[in-house]
Amino acid sequence: MDGATGISAVLRQELTCWAVGAIIGIALVAVVGLLAYQRYLMGKKPTQHLCNYCGHMVGAVSDCHHAPVKERFLHGTCMECKNDCRLVCQRCKRPF
Ligand SMILES: [Zn+2]
Ligand SMILES: [Zn+2]
Repeated sequence: MDGATGISAVLRQELTCWAVGAIIGIALVAVVGLLAYQRYLMGKKPTQHLCNYCGHMVGAVSDCHHAPVKERFLHGTCMECKNDCRLVCQRCKRPF
């Protein structure tokens, strides 16, 4: 009786292991899928910045023409004059 109980306990433990493994696997797939989806959305949407002055998530515009910019790291190209420009807040026009 003790032996049978032991075996069923081991079996149950193994089943639990499999179940946990399966759940972790599914969760991982879900997370990876979600991240890929987020990156896809980020690629479509213009980048949003958190403005320190007005405290909003805002789009960036150029400091020279307040026009849309092609964003690079910490600076961008003004779509109006095609020159190098700084990125400023769309709302309060202050640099990020
Ligand atoms: Zn702002
Ligand atoms: Zn410009």
